[in-house]
Amino acid sequence: MQAMSAPQSESAAERREILKEVYAQTQQCVRCSELAATRKTVVFGAGNADADLMFVGEAPGASEDEQGIPFVGRAGKLLETLLGEIGMARSEVFIANVLKCRPPANRDPRPEEIANCNEYLYRQVELIQPTVICTLGNFSTKLLRDDPTGITRLHGQPQVLTLGRRAVRLYPIFHPAAALYTPRMLETLREDFARLPALLAQGAPEQPDWTPTPDIDPSELADARGDVEGVGQVGEATRGASSPTPPPAEVDQLGLF
Ligand code: URA
Repeated sequence: MQAMSAPQSESAAERREILKEVYAQTQQCVRCSELAATRKTVVFGAGNADADLMFVGEAPGASEDEQGIPFVGRAGKLLETLLGEIGMARSEVFIANVLKCRPPANRDPRPEEIANCNEYLYRQVELIQPTVICTLGNFSTKLLRDDPTGITRLHGQPQVLTLGRRAVRLYPIFHPAAALYTPRMLETLREDFARLPALLAQGAPEQPDWTPTPDIDPSELADARGDVEGVGQVGEATRGASSPTPPPAEVDQLGLF
């Protein structure tokens, strides 16, 4: 899937409205027939739609599938605790997953499911415009870095990564679910979490150089937004986001983000 970015001139309120349209689109998604048939809800993501800090987990589990909200089970409680320890509340951040639907019996996401769903995640990133993206565990780290290097090697090491048209600070850490049962991993996760405030304080990384499209008529805008992968490399890589065509949305998601 190819990249697109919202024009950087859009206000936070405008980006939030578009995010609601993407939310509405995900609710109808049947790209993965098995997941669409077995899910109870589509877990889009939740939190501050203009957050500086975004977390990306793996996929909803049973509690998330029931409630339609990410990280509401035991791993979510740990995430909230760790956030509290660095003086942050869940409401300040945005939390999403690689997959928006629960894989049956919590099996691992399949490559084709990740490929089907990653467009939504890239849209979330480009609309929320976080400064720091904290990937939780292997699946989100490998997806956003587009590289098979695992979390054990990468955790706690921030890197600047260009996603669509924006550079972000990517910060891979262990998945809280893994830390629930391994005290040493929890200790490491806590140490990595403790570095988040300093990382956030650095602010946004230098942004790629790109020339905004001059005044164009709206019919051209779709094309202008269509494919920007490879524009403005900063740091190690440029990952793409694609452009689902949002249906008209009659949904108010204030409760979710
Ligand atoms: N684990 C995840 O990766 N995501 C959730 O939403 C819950 C648990």
